[in-house]
Amino acid sequence: GNFVPPSRSNGGNAGNVTSRIGGAGDDALDDSTRKCLEMLCGPDGELPEKLRNLEPRLIEHVSNEIMDRDPNVRWDDIAGLEHAKKCVTEMVIWPLLRPDIFRGCRSPGRGLLLFGPPGTGKTMIGKAIAGEAKATFFYISASSLTSKWIGEGEKLVRALFGVASCRQPAVIFVDEIDSLLSQRKSDGEHESSRRLKTQFLIEMEGFDSGTEQILLIGATNRPQELDEAARRRLTKRLYIPLPSSEARAWIVRNLLQKDGLLKLSQEDIDAICRLTEGYSGSDMKNLVKDASMGPLRDALRQGIEITKLKKEDMRAVTLQDFESALQEVRPSVSLNELGTYEEWNKQFGSLS
Ligand code: ADP
Repeated sequence: GNFVPPSRSNGGNAGNVTSRIGGAGDDALDDSTRKCLEMLCGPDGELPEKLRNLEPRLIEHVSNEIMDRDPNVRWDDIAGLEHAKKCVTEMVIWPLLRPDIFRGCRSPGRGLLLFGPPGTGKTMIGKAIAGEAKATFFYISASSLTSKWIGEGEKLVRALFGVASCRQPAVIFVDEIDSLLSQRKSDGEHESSRRLKTQFLIEMEGFDSGTEQILLIGATNRPQELDEAARRRLTKRLYIPLPSSEARAWIVRNLLQKDGLLKLSQEDIDAICRLTEGYSGSDMKNLVKDASMGPLRDALRQGIEITKLKKEDMRAVTLQDFESALQEVRPSVSLNELGTYEEWNKQFGSLS
């Protein structure tokens, strides 16, 4: 390849940079790492400043595993959540599309917190933001930083923010952000997780004050675990609640329709909605999956072999299929938990 090892001609710590990036020399990089670094090089063939002191394998990991080239979710794929969509459009999408207008008094916050029960569409919103704002999407689960990347989390965080700054506009989505920015007190806290948290806050501070077009979205099911420093940086905090009855109906209709299986009447759908009070979006998806297996199971029960089964041999999905599926798929969020979210929302959430 024609990868040019980055070096600084104007003195500085050029020796250091060259040795860090190339390891034992440029030859030490394997093809995929070299390719990845080449793609991040500027028109002058040099690696951007921010990436120079980072380990190539971490840059590669961020580019290949954490960066999502095609988030593939649009607003229209997300049921309900009108309030969140409206806030996010104004706060995030417009500023990413028109940075020239959103400056000074109008400059947007760079940190957004999505909190609420699991399976309600927080990750979908993150992906949709990236899609709608034509931004690069980075997804990382904070618990993987503390468990999988033991001792290396800090370096990975630097690589993450470094690559994001080369791929602007960028959206960095940190799932389970509570496990990174929790308020557990330092005596019980490991030195390494304290360092990781500090590094993360430093990186956030860095792009918060600059002109970079990077948005950090944290998602959590445990907002009460976040400390004051985390809350301060995540200026907008949106509650993502369980889906309303209309949103649940939309999910059922949408999923069945996509597969050409929608034959339910409006009354059937209304009945399903009444029976699924308290179900999350992800519970609804699992319910539809289970219900749509009903006709298949029936056909097989009648002795038709799976290899000979024709689609036309299967009956439509019925309300009874949903009633049976309801026995299998139970709601995953308890009423108790909902109370905690609502309390936290009243105290810290962005209500309008
Ligand atoms: P969270 O990040 O809140 O835990 P996700 O966004 O990962 O939840 O949602 C998990 C799955 O549940 C999604 O892939 C989608 O199929 C379904 N889902 C959840 N909420 C919604 C919603 N509001 N509209 C449509 N589908 C949803």
